[in-house]
Amino acid sequence: MSIEANLANIRKEISNNISLVAVSKTKPTSDILEAYSAGQRIFGENKIQEMVSKFEELPKDIKWHMIGHLQRNKVKYMAHFVDLIHGVDSLKTLKEINKQAQKHRRTIACLLQIKIATEDTKFGIPTDEVGALLMSDEFKSLENIQIKGFMGMASFTEDLDIVKTEFDVLKALYDQLSPIHDLNTLSMGMSGDYPLAIECGSNMVRVGSAIFGTRNYN
Ligand SMILES: *Cc1c(COP(=O)(O)O)cnc(C)c1O
Repeated sequence: MSIEANLANIRKEISNNISLVAVSKTKPTSDILEAYSAGQRIFGENKIQEMVSKFEELPKDIKWHMIGHLQRNKVKYMAHFVDLIHGVDSLKTLKEINKQAQKHRRTIACLLQIKIATEDTKFGIPTDEVGALLMSDEFKSLENIQIKGFMGMASFTEDLDIVKTEFDVLKALYDQLSPIHDLNTLSMGMSGDYPLAIECGSNMVRVGSAIFGTRNYN
């Protein structure tokens, strides 16, 4: 099926209050333009350099989301245009984003990546450390950062019971902390599990292969 048809099918499945991030990593700009022509405006990339070159080439009303693990020394290359950074999992990284945001006199919106998968290959902040981080004076001094919510990736498994349990953990944390910290974004769900993630309370899904087809790498 075409990119346009894939997008239309996904949009039919999800309600309007759910943000759809089209994950275009490794895909050519021609694919992104096809999705753009079909009305898609939010695109997700996991490598800063790749996102920067696509940003430079493509229409300026695209909202670029960085969904990958961040290399701190590359934050400066996207600080002037990135719309939302999903994968922030340390105070050190937040400080670097804050510093680069200050240089451009802007506030950069971020999601904290929370460790919900039981496998130990995944990045993220342990659930029991998130509250303390958000309350810390060091965090509060970062004036050019806005934490909008949380991002989580479930275990890489076919067992949807495990995935559901992990999504439920993240939703519970979000419900607990969102009234205190004014959060409004819960980013969970990918091609294989976004319907389940939405059932579990996600309001932002990151969908790649179900829109653009399978990737050869990444
Ligand atoms: C690649 C990626 C996705 C999209 O994966 P698909 O299975 O192709 O939908 C979502 N989130 C993150 C963090 C990714 O790296």
